Amino acid sequence: MSLTTPASSIISKIESALSGLDIALWDIKGKKLGVPIWQLLGGKVRDRLRVYGWVGGDHPSAVREAAAERKAQGFTAVKMNATEALAWLDSPAHLTSTVERVREVRALGMDVGVDFHGRLHKGMARQLAALLEKEGVLFIEEPLLATFPAEFADLARSVSVPIAAGERLYSRHDFRPFFEARALDLAQPDVSHCGGISELVRIAALAETYDVALAPHCPLGPIALAACVAVGVSRLNFVIQEMSWQIHYNSEDADLFTYLDDPSVFAVKEGYVQAPSAPGLGITINEALVRERSAAYTAAGVQAWRNPLWRGEDGSLREW
Ligand SMILES: [Mg+2]
Repeated sequence: MSLTTPASSIISKIESALSGLDIALWDIKGKKLGVPIWQLLGGKVRDRLRVYGWVGGDHPSAVREAAAERKAQGFTAVKMNATEALAWLDSPAHLTSTVERVREVRALGMDVGVDFHGRLHKGMARQLAALLEKEGVLFIEEPLLATFPAEFADLARSVSVPIAAGERLYSRHDFRPFFEARALDLAQPDVSHCGGISELVRIAALAETYDVALAPHCPLGPIALAACVAVGVSRLNFVIQEMSWQIHYNSEDADLFTYLDDPSVFAVKEGYVQAPSAPGLGITINEALVRERSAAYTAAGVQAWRNPLWRGEDGSLREW
């Protein structure tokens, strides 16, 4: 790792590999016993799970169009990025467009979460959080980078908007200082990086003891989504699930549903997906297509996706 590696790139590959193995073992166990994974986790506490999609667009009219499309697809909630790259202390003028974009979504009667993505530092994060507080947003996400639990807690005390984070916290132990500082309202562990279903369940239970809700991070594929759904179905403090369908970095021929034999398992109706009924993860992957595409991408020299590297006008690194 070089000194210029953005914090968002620092994910332990070992933890991610173990997460994959853990998810696979739960799937095998469920299939062997002929029950969905949620049955092995204690049973269902809900019949369906609320989900949100992503909307992009820098201009309010583009956001309105994108949110209307999500509404037509069945979503009642979306998430958007708060800002582009900002300097440590930047012009407050950059923040007015965030409010305008949020208003476009709210005008459609939809809920909206706003992902700061750790791009702001605490002065401007507090400034933007105070502006969004008046707009009735569902939550603000990563108002700061996840290296600042005490500063998160200060922010939580200064604004009434619910605060979410967790995609860069990879275990109960990473979450613990945030819970102890009363810094979070929503925990967003990523099942593909936190140790799989087993650790996601433990983080959810720990969160519950601090009155913190669970909203698993999942901008990834159908296996990760099915693993999140299995946990969400069985945990009382689950509130909403991220879905990567048509997220900005997917392509049309490699989207959430592309590799599923039966995409209807994740059909969005009235803002919800149904709890799965099939054994294990409740999905089947078209493995032949995965192998075919993998070979084709390798032959074409397509590289694995990496975070963009952003620099400001002065040449310094900016958080993606
Ligand atoms: Mg995020």
